[in-house]
Amino acid sequence: MKRVESLLNLNLDLSLPRLLRSCLGQGAFLGKEAVVAASGRAGEMTDFFNSLLVTIRPRYSSGILCLALTMLLVPAMPPFTQAQVIKSGPPSCPGVALTFDLCPVRRGAGYDQALIDYLIEQKIPATFFMSGNWMMRHDEQVKALLQIPFFEVGTHGKVHAHLPLHSADEQKQEILGPVRLLKTKYGHDATLFRPPYGEFNDDTVNVARALGLQFILWNVESGDPDPTLTAMRIEDRLKQLVRKGSVIVMHANGKGRHTHEVVQHLHQHLLPERNLTPMTMSDLLICNGQAAP
Ligand SMILES: [Zn+2]
Repeated sequence: MKRVESLLNLNLDLSLPRLLRSCLGQGAFLGKEAVVAASGRAGEMTDFFNSLLVTIRPRYSSGILCLALTMLLVPAMPPFTQAQVIKSGPPSCPGVALTFDLCPVRRGAGYDQALIDYLIEQKIPATFFMSGNWMMRHDEQVKALLQIPFFEVGTHGKVHAHLPLHSADEQKQEILGPVRLLKTKYGHDATLFRPPYGEFNDDTVNVARALGLQFILWNVESGDPDPTLTAMRIEDRLKQLVRKGSVIVMHANGKGRHTHEVVQHLHQHLLPERNLTPMTMSDLLICNGQAAP
């Protein structure tokens, strides 16, 4: 019989319906759809389940395990702070997170100064995911972004690798590079992590969790680096997708030709019309139906 550690080691989004579906499917915990709650809580329960499993017969064990897991996990899972891969905030929260990736660029300034100036002038909370190679070429900009109290800074891999193509150890080095750089050179603890290209596998999630990082994706893709999209097309897309708790992905490395214009439109029209307030990623995750002060 597999030990509970291996079952709990599986990952993917956690949801009550999926958990219950898994239980109804008996033994589905052994499959890839298995779930896991906060690692601390899961760790606490591991010993309990191991002692339980040695005392019960194998043919009953998966059902009993399912029932026990459901009873113990359901009250313990605030879904937006503890699910492993975070794509959005609480749907009751009247806020959205404007997130900007700072992927390395081969040509150009690699920094959308006009966009950043606008965010600062308008005091718009925003979250930036910096790649290590971008940081190494933008020392002044890193310092400038870290100084703004309503900006939050996370990391985005070192060289912007396709993580699933790499071993767990290589992924760890790629993920850790900019985290260490921010800590040693700038004295900043970055706990948010977004995988380059949004690509990940089980190793990526496990490595990020082991490093104590929050794994942040998005649920609204602006498409801003696509040179064929006009500002209006991007705005139309946002109109369709943005709602309470949305996490919008954009770029601040100059790749988004219309990002500045689109953010102005969001700030002046779309968000106020929908009574939505921009928040940093961390504020969005703890938002409980109230806009941040
Ligand atoms: Zn990127």
